[in-house]
Amino acid sequence: EFTAMYDDKHRISRDDIVVGRILGEGFFGEVHDGVYKSPSGERTRVAIKTCKDCSAEVKGKFLSEAELMKNLDHPHIVRLIGVIEVDPVWIVMELYEYGELGNYLVEQQYILSTAKLTQYCLQICKALAYLERLNMVHRDIAIRNILVASVECVKLGDFGLSRYIDEQEYYKASVSRLPIKWMAPESINFRRFTSASDVWMFGVCVWEIFSLAQQPFYWLENGQVINQLESGVRLHKPQRCPTTIYGLLTRCWAYEPHSRPTFGELVSSFSEIHKMELEQ
Ligand code: ADP
Repeated sequence: EFTAMYDDKHRISRDDIVVGRILGEGFFGEVHDGVYKSPSGERTRVAIKTCKDCSAEVKGKFLSEAELMKNLDHPHIVRLIGVIEVDPVWIVMELYEYGELGNYLVEQQYILSTAKLTQYCLQICKALAYLERLNMVHRDIAIRNILVASVECVKLGDFGLSRYIDEQEYYKASVSRLPIKWMAPESINFRRFTSASDVWMFGVCVWEIFSLAQQPFYWLENGQVINQLESGVRLHKPQRCPTTIYGLLTRCWAYEPHSRPTFGELVSSFSEIHKMELEQ
């Protein structure tokens, strides 16, 4: 059934892929690195997602991420190269050699300038403004889902929880595997996810970036978070975070979703702040 949904652009052959070492463990199975040779003979380094216990139902869920990514084309979103639909099913993506942003921030903390950290925030913000225009909610914005392509470029990935919200005005989640400490109050309380709840999560993600990969609310249990948020408690300003940016974060964390800025507005604000930092 899934086969018919894939366009030719993303149909690739297993014969054109050489599988390398294990990069990490994904939700569905191991992720390997490898090399893909395109029909024109060009070689690209790739990440290959595999699906371990791939029953028909699991396969549908595994491939739904690729199905969404297939429609996305943005310089700061992980690029899907193709899907192999016959067993063993593979999702093949462009490889980003520097790996997860969280590890990168810890390793490079003495080298990364404030302007560079702001640039990463701006790039993710642009990716999210693009999704906002497509009426797509990501629902899992966190540094664990950002990959580093180069010192100059980060990419938002992991569309495993993403949904289009075309018809309904919001997506009501049914899963329980939710990242509570990143979530907006209405997402915790009513499992309500919109671009405005993505804005809240983006704020938490910016906090992670400037606190160099600390876990938000690490001092709380998941079950305590909503009470804290409802009594007005918010994440403090990380030492490395400019006050101008922290001002934006407090607006992303407005209790009422409609009081938060849009990603479109945030792109303008982060661009200006980034420009000023470069001039300093
Ligand atoms: P899942 O979303 O299914 O849980 P992940 O996307 O977290 O899987 O991938 C598991 C691991 O593989 C991560 O630790 C990540 O570092 C690595 N990885 C995944 N995709 C890429 C990629 N495109 N480039 C480099 N590393 C990747």
